[in-house]
Amino acid sequence: MHHARQGAGDYFGSRVSETRYVGRRTKADVLDGVTDEIKTSKCEGRNTVRYHTVDGDERLRYHDTDVVTIYADKSVTLHSGGWRTVTTKERMVTELRRLGIRIGLYADKGQWWVSGLKGSGDAPVKDIWSGSCTVYVDGITFQPDGTLITADAELIERAQAEVEVLKVIKKLCAKLRKDLTDGELPKPEPGDCFICQTAKSGGPAHVQAHVLKGEINGHLIVAALRWCGWTEDSIDWTYRQWSGRGSEINQIVDKVRRYFRSAFGLTL
Ligand SMILES: [Zn+2]
Repeated sequence: MHHARQGAGDYFGSRVSETRYVGRRTKADVLDGVTDEIKTSKCEGRNTVRYHTVDGDERLRYHDTDVVTIYADKSVTLHSGGWRTVTTKERMVTELRRLGIRIGLYADKGQWWVSGLKGSGDAPVKDIWSGSCTVYVDGITFQPDGTLITADAELIERAQAEVEVLKVIKKLCAKLRKDLTDGELPKPEPGDCFICQTAKSGGPAHVQAHVLKGEINGHLIVAALRWCGWTEDSIDWTYRQWSGRGSEINQIVDKVRRYFRSAFGLTL
């Protein structure tokens, strides 16, 4: 059984659609794809293998990603492989705890944050500092005392852009919620954006353009519901029986939020 990863956008580059095996995998399955020579390996929970390379790395592998790599000098790298799931994060947190490293990892509405890092000459933490935490980026590497060694500049830029986009989406969804509370569910109108009207979906890039301009229209709402798998009948029914109840509003706002995030290739 496979399930396709949602999110077609290329806005943030690497996170395009993938498939992932959902059932339980053997140790050999998990280690398939490791190119370095393996010295020892053992299963550690579902779809999780700890292995040592002949080069002296110790790696915790979950599915197809070395989510935690501990180098011979004890420095540590975290990588989600694009799968910022609860389990990926839990694997990382448990491993950091096991190592006695006081780095925290938090998820907030699709964005991950790291606490407890210290800056260094090559990688001043202030560059990726936001509030009391640092934006998490894949490949982030630090010493056991939390001193940041490296986090790829392009990744940091992308993480910052993600934070900005998430803010914009949040604001737009708050406005939608208010509009829905004050009035009707916007219908697709002849006056809506031409591209939204002519195609079932203008594609992720077109959706991105609307989001970045803070725009929303009936066509976008219907596209979001279709994208979430609603049939034409259920969409039609939703419009006809709309009463503006809180639960209805939550449904619509949630679908629109997911649709917008997906357009940017963001975690839903
Ligand atoms: Zn449009």
